[in-house]
Amino acid sequence: MLRIFRFSLLLLLLLAGSCEDESDQSPGSQRGDHQSVLLISLDGFAFDYRGKAHTPALDSIVIFGATTQALTPVFPSKTFPNHYTQVTGLYPEDHGIIGNRMFDPEFNEYFSLSDPSVRDGKWYGGEPIWVTCQRQGLTSATMFWPGSDAEIGGRRPDDYFVFNGVVTDQARVQQVLDWMERGRARPHFISLYFEAVDQAGHNNGPDHSQVIEAIEAMDALLNELFQGIVNLGLQELINIIIVSDHGMTDIRRERVIFLDDYLDLNQVEVVNWSPLLELIPQTGEEESVFQSLAGQHPNWQVFRKQDLPEHWHYQDHKRVTPVLALADLGWSISSRSFFQSTPGAFTGGTHGYDPLETAMGGVFMASGPGFRQGVEMEAVESVHLYELMCFLLDIEPALNDGDLTVWEEVLNL
Ligand code: AMP
Ligand code: ZN
Ligand code: ZN
Repeated sequence: MLRIFRFSLLLLLLLAGSCEDESDQSPGSQRGDHQSVLLISLDGFAFDYRGKAHTPALDSIVIFGATTQALTPVFPSKTFPNHYTQVTGLYPEDHGIIGNRMFDPEFNEYFSLSDPSVRDGKWYGGEPIWVTCQRQGLTSATMFWPGSDAEIGGRRPDDYFVFNGVVTDQARVQQVLDWMERGRARPHFISLYFEAVDQAGHNNGPDHSQVIEAIEAMDALLNELFQGIVNLGLQELINIIIVSDHGMTDIRRERVIFLDDYLDLNQVEVVNWSPLLELIPQTGEEESVFQSLAGQHPNWQVFRKQDLPEHWHYQDHKRVTPVLALADLGWSISSRSFFQSTPGAFTGGTHGYDPLETAMGGVFMASGPGFRQGVEMEAVESVHLYELMCFLLDIEPALNDGDLTVWEEVLNL
């Protein structure tokens, strides 16, 4: 406990108070007197990671702010659908980013994270919070966020960067601190994104010591960020919201389902493989493809598009394929040739499973003037974050699927 308090935000606040420059007669005008929201994503930070590592900075947010037992992702529990839900308040079937990879039958084109389609606004429906801000006269700056480097509804964040994983985490933090130093011109909404913990989870599985190392490195960096905010005297003006998009589970080569055991692969277009298999059969072959897969393996569930579970809020979009199969937690789907030619595949960790699987849960931790102190509430669905942020920024949300009232317990009303 002592170690936690040594690093605590409270102590940082006290230290900052004692170092204040006495010549600063009008701190309000120096700092800008408006409140901002700083939204931080720790990609792939599972709901139980904080308990596995030494995380004084995150602990200080929890002790002096609010947390939920988990942040429940939307389906599929992948990066792009979830981050875009967090900033729009829409389920994937309503914003259209239904996967990290998608095929659009009207565009007759693929969307992929590794080509320029990821920055093409025509794929992005709904209204991300940076657009809501701009429409209502507020400013935004994004240090990466899925969708933030695309023009959406004719608008972009006031400051943004094209995603580049080579930019160090340290440089990302410094950029955010630079924005915070702008006084009255400090952006109202700022995003900050880190993929390091997700990558450690993929490479090793969630229980590996390298994941703990990645969590602790992340925490040390967050400590620097929080200290920077305090040094700028902004702790009472910034609502810090830390989230993740999904959790992580371990996968093994002994738990793989082979599609070509049941189907001639020439019969279908495979849009995604695993753990959510998304298939476009040749026209008229939808039912026969479904029949040849359904019930064939005990560790997947096969669906026709029209029979998808209600709680996924997934089926009502043109980009969802006619036939789908979802592997059970920890299982993967592949072809025999890919499996044999890729010895490193299907080891380590992954995500993408049903959001109701506990292991897919992410995190929510927040502190600042808008939040009560020391509150922990039950799991909340990530679709409600947009409403929360609009409330904190005092702007009118666009039409969305979220509900502000779920946050009542944590808000400083
Ligand atoms: P996932 O495959 O769902 O684990 O996605 C995580 C990966 O998404 C990260 O490791 C990044 O490489 C990638 N990513 C995250 N944000 C962006 C972005 N804004 N643009 C392109 N790729 C991104
Ligand atoms: Zn992710
Ligand atoms: Zn990932």
